[in-house]
Amino acid sequence: MRVCVLGAGVVGLTTAWSLARDGHDVTVVEARGGAALEASFANGGQLSYSYVAPLADPAVLPKLPAWLLQRDSALRFVPRFDAQQWRWCAAFLLACRSHRARQTALEMLSLGALSKAALHEIVERESIAFDYVRNGKLVVYRDSHDFERARHKMERLVAAGSDQRALDGSQCAMLEPALAHAQPLIAGGIHTPSEEAGDCQRFSVALADALRARHRVTFHYDTRVRELVRKGPHIVAARTASGDIEADAFVVALGLGSVPLVAALGVRLPIYPLTGYSLTIDDADPRHAPRVSVTDLHRKVVFAPLGERLRIAGMVEIAGLPDVQRAARIELLKRQAQEIFPAAGDYANAQAWCGHRPATPDSKPLIGRTPYGNLWLNTGHGALGFTLACGSARVIADMIAGRPASVDIAAYAYDR
Ligand SMILES: Cc1cc2nc3c(=O)[nH]c(=O)nc-3n(C[C@H](O)[C@H](O)[C@H](O)COP(=O)(O)OP(=O)(O)OC[C@H]3O[C@@H](n4cnc5c(N)ncnc54)[C@H](O)[C@@H]3O)c2cc1C
Repeated sequence: MRVCVLGAGVVGLTTAWSLARDGHDVTVVEARGGAALEASFANGGQLSYSYVAPLADPAVLPKLPAWLLQRDSALRFVPRFDAQQWRWCAAFLLACRSHRARQTALEMLSLGALSKAALHEIVERESIAFDYVRNGKLVVYRDSHDFERARHKMERLVAAGSDQRALDGSQCAMLEPALAHAQPLIAGGIHTPSEEAGDCQRFSVALADALRARHRVTFHYDTRVRELVRKGPHIVAARTASGDIEADAFVVALGLGSVPLVAALGVRLPIYPLTGYSLTIDDADPRHAPRVSVTDLHRKVVFAPLGERLRIAGMVEIAGLPDVQRAARIELLKRQAQEIFPAAGDYANAQAWCGHRPATPDSKPLIGRTPYGNLWLNTGHGALGFTLACGSARVIADMIAGRPASVDIAAYAYDR
């Protein structure tokens, strides 16, 4: 079958890989001049399969006043005259109910486990260099109550077979000596040795090369899809400035760009941009930069070693697309990172990036059918697109092939 994948971010490319592996004739269409130049460009690099709990959780409710009032909060809400923003926020609040948050966490854990196995298969079959490490993840807590709560949650996961352990402040610094300076700030940490990290953009670019060279996938870069051409209940072509691209099936993996394209067909997707920022320090100092992936939960800042580099990412802004505060937020991220790893490298010359997570209110991606028989969705991966891309790709390929998927597909329907 001829399948056209729209979007060459990490989700579109992994989708193309799964479809090519099934023997389909795959074409990828992308507005930008190369792979992974939007949300997949310089993200936090975490492949954290055990940390897929949704942002919408009852625990965020008491923190809402601080989001609204503190200008330097890691989580920030900037109200706009935008019905989409308010609809998204209302749905987010509904998703914070404890039974929904618990159910979502379980569903995401199973997609996470599938994604881990699927990424390992890609790594095994393709020679892809992307600063990939299985270095474990250490989440550190500054507040002793937060740590105790996390320890209780962990004990439940450990009883269910998860490989995690709780460490006190000095054990955290023994595990990751670069934390020695910050040890007095740390109440404790949860270590998950099996977690991984890598560079999402390098992964995507290398995968695109492999798709072109080994799997005969056709790429159309610099090609924006303006509309999807329908004939009755089917889509017949993706319309671009350089002509129509015809196919038997279409997969929308356009991140934020998915929303306007399918809205024109009457399909409303609950995706809103959650803005975040990252810093990349080249030549990180090996004595003072972490080798383990570290999350400072208090600041919601993640650190990932990527070869010689250190990637630092954080902040969640519900503020729409204009980046009015960009310079100030980058400086804030630098200050927050230096609280934990002050000598990790040259912060002044770190490369700064601002990206927009294509997020759904309950953090679950939208994978599956639309009312149009041959139009499929694989989008809305929010803060976890790198972690969940390979599993989501396998699910959509299973659905297109008519095979039973290994997760509950109803949980990922766009109109769930
Ligand atoms: C600061 C930050 C830190 C993050 N950290 C992590 C992390 O540590 N771990 C993790 O798992 N995830 C992380 N994420 C989330 C992750 O980066 C995203 O979920 C993921 O990149 C989304 O991939 P995507 O392919 O859906 O979207 P994108 O990468 O945005 O790809 C969509 C593509 O579609 C193209 N497009 C859009 N409209 C059109 C059109 N009309 N025609 C043609 N092409 C079009 C775009 O140009 C783009 O290339 C982070 C995100 C941010 C912003």
